[in-house]
Amino acid sequence: MPAQSCLFLCLKDNFGVLVHDSETMATAAIDAPEAAPVEAALKRTGWQLTDILVTHHHHDHTGGIEALKSRHRCRVVAPAAEASGIPAVDETVREGDRVQVGSLEAHVIETPGHTAGHISYFLPADKLAFVGDTLFSIGCGRVIEGNPEMMWKSLLKLRALPDDTRIFCGHEYTMANISFAKTIEPANALLVAREQEANRLIAQNKPTIPTFMGEEKAANPFLRADVPEVAQSLGLAGKPTWQVFAEIRERKNRF
Ligand code: ZN
Ligand code: FE
Repeated sequence: MPAQSCLFLCLKDNFGVLVHDSETMATAAIDAPEAAPVEAALKRTGWQLTDILVTHHHHDHTGGIEALKSRHRCRVVAPAAEASGIPAVDETVREGDRVQVGSLEAHVIETPGHTAGHISYFLPADKLAFVGDTLFSIGCGRVIEGNPEMMWKSLLKLRALPDDTRIFCGHEYTMANISFAKTIEPANALLVAREQEANRLIAQNKPTIPTFMGEEKAANPFLRADVPEVAQSLGLAGKPTWQVFAEIRERKNRF
């Protein structure tokens, strides 16, 4: 049976999301920014929390873990490389590991760069990807603990997912990301289309995600550092792709 999901806002601009397996009734929260909105989503759906799958150690992704675990006795799965910075971890995972949520299976993809041990979760049967703060809709995370080359490689791993993969990211940053993306590729018609779509969703008080990988490949400048026209417009034709990526990231930091 297909996975069901429930998406909601936490804190200021974090997304919380529940993934539910109606066959076994298992339910995972992907990250736990804070407990109250997760509890509210559980109440709305009638689902029982069995697992928390953590993408990285930042507090805006882990602040709700302890309260949720003490109430629901759920299992906490976290990246091995930064588990020591995450509360109440039961299981650690690495590249290629499989995580079961009831009958749903998530594959672990290591996507370092934002943090040194950041991981993403991909459910191949449902083509769902939970990418934390690595990839955003029309953006990507700040490179805090890694370096641009590492982050670019992580983005390439995500870019290799099927085009019809639905991408759930950690933050609602889409509008700001689109404003910036237009400075890199002002003539990208798909960006203009995304802006209209995002405006429409926000006017209705709806989240702008999930987004599809195919759409990100067409419009997200951080996934387009190896498009020759992009490198050329930045004056970096012929340079290593990660350097083009680094320049785009640097410009966004200053934007
Ligand atoms: Zn983060
Ligand atoms: Fe975050």
